[in-house]
Amino acid sequence: MVRPVFVYSDALMGYNMGTQHPMQPRRLRQTFDLLDSYGAFESEIELREPTPADFDEVAETHSAKFLEAIELLSKGGRSSGSSRFGFGSGDNPIFPGMYESAMLYTGATLNAVDAVLAGASVGINISGGLHHAHYDRAAGFCILNDCAVGIRRLRRRYARVAYVDIDVHHGDGVQELFYDDPTVLTISLHESGRTLFPGTGFVYESGEGEGVGYSLNLPFAPYTPDAIWIQAWRDSALLILKAFQPEAILLQMGTDAHVEDPLAHLCLTAQGWLEAIKDVVGLGVPIVAVGGGGYNMKTVTKMWSLATLTLSGIAHEDATPDSFTMHNEIPTLTDHYEIELAEKDRKRSQDFAEESVNEIRDTHFAKFGL
Ligand SMILES: [Zn+2]
Repeated sequence: MVRPVFVYSDALMGYNMGTQHPMQPRRLRQTFDLLDSYGAFESEIELREPTPADFDEVAETHSAKFLEAIELLSKGGRSSGSSRFGFGSGDNPIFPGMYESAMLYTGATLNAVDAVLAGASVGINISGGLHHAHYDRAAGFCILNDCAVGIRRLRRRYARVAYVDIDVHHGDGVQELFYDDPTVLTISLHESGRTLFPGTGFVYESGEGEGVGYSLNLPFAPYTPDAIWIQAWRDSALLILKAFQPEAILLQMGTDAHVEDPLAHLCLTAQGWLEAIKDVVGLGVPIVAVGGGGYNMKTVTKMWSLATLTLSGIAHEDATPDSFTMHNEIPTLTDHYEIELAEKDRKRSQDFAEESVNEIRDTHFAKFGL
């Protein structure tokens, strides 16, 4: 029996866009520490050191010119096209060593893929999930699209691979990179592009050419709570995911749909969000799980820990261990409060979700025999 693999070392914290940037690398170490305090790495999960991705393999997903520009900027060189490649804005600052650190988080996703290819039921890289990176442009805190690189390696073995993205932002980079590919089903649940970055992810974006039907978007209105989110997923995307019969799944586990996350407006709890992950586990297919967004340093830490324990099938107490250094700040893995929504917001999110599901029925169900 091959154990679940968790790819981590503190070197992954080198992907650091600065102290004022919302994406704080300490969320990685905090998650590791919380899992470690549960004893997760004693026998149940194998901890593996990440290794950098190889230029040629990454160049199957990104343009060589883009990779060369990253390498140059990373060394402190000047590239006249840096803004053309998406760098220099507040979202994507240039920082020393960014080439090496981007290659490392991408390599860590490939290490998680390799674990699955070697027979593990799950391989996890919380430093990955950087779903906004495009073919030749950094975007939304993402330089390299490790999700796409990982999917390509999975495709060498598996005929059909599904990508499931529960980050609050649309997984635009991954969708774009497989838009005409019927062997990769991309599914993204997110807050609507009308109210949130990157402004895409509408149901009508369903693929092109051979890939028509194989891009699936399930958008939600601001303030959507657990019950509406999970019901819409089960009534549409989950049915299509099952009908597609993927041989492997790459799961992007951004935690920024949580009610306490500062960058978006959905109202999920940790345990509500986890329901979708449990549904994916229930399919019994090998899973490569990566991180993604998560900008509240407490909720991201507990949600990735909860997800890792669940994906690995490890029974655990909800109360975090006393030995965890942040035990007082993060006393439990799940949330213990009721979210009070204004009736108009609840109604609006319900209507919006129903509309998304109905549109998906019209655009996608026939293709999958549903
Ligand atoms: Zn996000």
